[in-house]
Amino acid sequence: MTVPLIRLNDGASIPQLGLGVFRVDAGETERVVSEALEIGYRHIDTAKIYGNEEEVGRAIAASGIPRDELYITTKLYNDDQGRATARDAFERSLDRLDLERVDLYLIHWPCPARDLYVETWRVLEQLQQSGRATSIGVSNFLEAHLQRLLDETDVVPAIDQIELHPYHQQPSVTAFARAHGIAIESWGPLGQGKYPLLELPEIVSIARAHGKSPAQVVLRWHIQQGTIVFPKSTRRERLVENFDVFDFELSVEEQAAITGLERGGRVGGDPNTAS
Ligand code: NAD
Repeated sequence: MTVPLIRLNDGASIPQLGLGVFRVDAGETERVVSEALEIGYRHIDTAKIYGNEEEVGRAIAASGIPRDELYITTKLYNDDQGRATARDAFERSLDRLDLERVDLYLIHWPCPARDLYVETWRVLEQLQQSGRATSIGVSNFLEAHLQRLLDETDVVPAIDQIELHPYHQQPSVTAFARAHGIAIESWGPLGQGKYPLLELPEIVSIARAHGKSPAQVVLRWHIQQGTIVFPKSTRRERLVENFDVFDFELSVEEQAAITGLERGGRVGGDPNTAS
């Protein structure tokens, strides 16, 4: 199975489908990531705050897969923002991952009340120049936060990783990002299981028509919109299922029916207040 690559504004490419390890217990992470790598996943999304970077690193080392065939993302957490602390946070993430570089380093949340994301971004610019963060980006940034980076710094983020699933599609952030060449990653692509997305009749009937599961249909909807996804599962059969979304295509009408499910229904934190 070949996962499409998305070309970023800095010239690097990212596999459009990967595995996210939010809320994967550290004790299970090495097994889950190893299974994903066996299945064919080559893109792993972790973060300092997930508490499992070390275990992700162990699975990578044990896999024997050449480093440049893997795509590894981690994120700088809120209390590490700031000129004095960001560089150290990055070094500690690399140490835990046991890597010389990451493919993508993200500021996890803007935390506007701290007002440190602009100076933190300056540190990420230097990390990219040093070659140890191939690409740099942000997460949970809304238009105003992106606009400040565009106005006050030199490097346009390669990626904005935002909550995005059928009930919460963030069309204005997405349009703004696209207009500035910023790729969108959808976190919580399956709604984190927090609403009955996979039981909605619109999704179930499309799944039946294609002989696919509701989860595969939702992931396919993301893929056809051009967003990057890394659904989380700890179960091998679901890892296989979530990776198997490249042998069918949703029609324009089916895509539109899923897009029509928008409810403004955030399931995660509010980027303006999360701190
Ligand atoms: P998700 O939408 O991927 O949902 C995960 C849940 O969906 C699982 O717990 C499981 O119960 C269910 N699931 C997975 N595969 C399934 C299948 N085939 N059939 C039925 N149910 C299935 O939610 P997520 O894990 O929060 O998001 C994915 C990744 O996004 C995370 O692991 C993490 O890497 C990233 N993330 C980032 C942020 C951020 O602030 N940047 C926040 C949350 C998540």
